[in-house]
Amino acid sequence: MDFELNEEQRMYRAAVRDFVDNELGPYAAEVDETKDLRWEAIAKMPTLGLTGLQVPEEYGGANLDSVSAAIAIEEVSRACGSTGLALAAHNGLCCGPLVNWGTDTQKEAYLPTLTSGDVLGSLALTEPNAGSDLVNGVRTRAVRDDDCWVINGEKTWITNATSTPIVITLARTDPDAEKRSRGLSMIIVETDTPGLTVEPPIPKMGVRGSHSCPLSYVDVKVPVDNLLGEEGRGIYQALTTLDAGRISIAACCVGLAQAALDATVRYIDERQTFGKKLWEHQAVQMRLADMATQVEASRVMLYYAAWQKDTGKDYNKIAGMAKLLASEVSEKAAYDAIQLHGGYGYSAEFPVERIYRDQRLMTIGEGANDILRMVIARRVMGH
Ligand SMILES: Cc1cc2nc3c(=O)[nH]c(=O)nc-3n(C[C@H](O)[C@H](O)[C@H](O)COP(=O)(O)OP(=O)(O)OC[C@H]3O[C@@H](n4cnc5c(N)ncnc54)[C@H](O)[C@@H]3O)c2cc1C
Repeated sequence: MDFELNEEQRMYRAAVRDFVDNELGPYAAEVDETKDLRWEAIAKMPTLGLTGLQVPEEYGGANLDSVSAAIAIEEVSRACGSTGLALAAHNGLCCGPLVNWGTDTQKEAYLPTLTSGDVLGSLALTEPNAGSDLVNGVRTRAVRDDDCWVINGEKTWITNATSTPIVITLARTDPDAEKRSRGLSMIIVETDTPGLTVEPPIPKMGVRGSHSCPLSYVDVKVPVDNLLGEEGRGIYQALTTLDAGRISIAACCVGLAQAALDATVRYIDERQTFGKKLWEHQAVQMRLADMATQVEASRVMLYYAAWQKDTGKDYNKIAGMAKLLASEVSEKAAYDAIQLHGGYGYSAEFPVERIYRDQRLMTIGEGANDILRMVIARRVMGH
């Protein structure tokens, strides 16, 4: 593997690390408890490019390479899982499609606001009856009426929906398309459009500072020019966006796993049993060594997938693998962290309890791991 972090990437990591250790880490428990992000920290993020990681500079972004973008999400997630997820969705799911397929007018209209640090953006794919199977499941319908699209339907689990100025919405524009996958398109919907209702956030197990909301569309009218990219290319756009999104989710996992490891190292160096520090027991060392090795392996895979994306090669398989590995490593790391904390690990007074709840999402969101395994297996078989 011909890859190592360059000086610029290392410096960027140091700057983000310093910022998150001051502005996010000390407030992560509060974010979880109050179920809201620390907006005063988000307002400061544009100086580090965190609210426009891969957005061109002319629209207020940092135009970073994918490895630096992954490092940013990893570091933010290490400090605060909720903020990590919210930023991953904002950058990857909302800014990403606009940068990739937006017209100059659409980019000028929305990207400067999205990178400002005042808002975080959303992408709405999932519906009450459509998650893994978007092609067949999506029922949200957009009908052409003169110079408008009229949208009716429901979406659910939409990250950042309470703070976004726009929701990029996957809707069925041609129910009779010969190939079902060609019947869907992405449409930009401004959140204050009459008929669009953002329901209150769904109460959830972890990443509680990040809001996930149901949306309802009743005769929502948007100009035809709000179509993002070509009509009928919505599934292609969704899958391309999710490939990049898997690198972001892998970055969230590596950050959370590292946070679990760091907390464990601190704890086992203090707690004593049977006359020794916990880490001095050989069985604890075995567990610690496995944990540290797996976290490092998932980080290498993450950076490799991000690097592969920057080379312009097909990165679908490696991004899926990075997300699969990192999400299962973070699950195990958080489990082991609680185990090594004993009863204290089960208490909300220690961060590992929150980290365990936060990371649990990662084997489900942006492609459930079972689906990823199918995708990877097909690629391995050459399909
Ligand atoms: C906190 C959170 C934030 C989210 N944010 C967003 C967002 O911003 N935008 C958005 O559009 N969506 C979002 N989602 C939705 C998320 O992407 C979906 O939950 C995910 O894609 C899985 O879809 P589903 O929940 O409908 O599960 P289903 O598709 O119903 O699947 C349920 C489970 O069955 C298994 N399964 C399904 N099909 C198969 C198969 N063929 N073979 C084997 N196993 C299978 C998988 O384990 C899967 O987890 C979010 C979800 C959560 C929980």
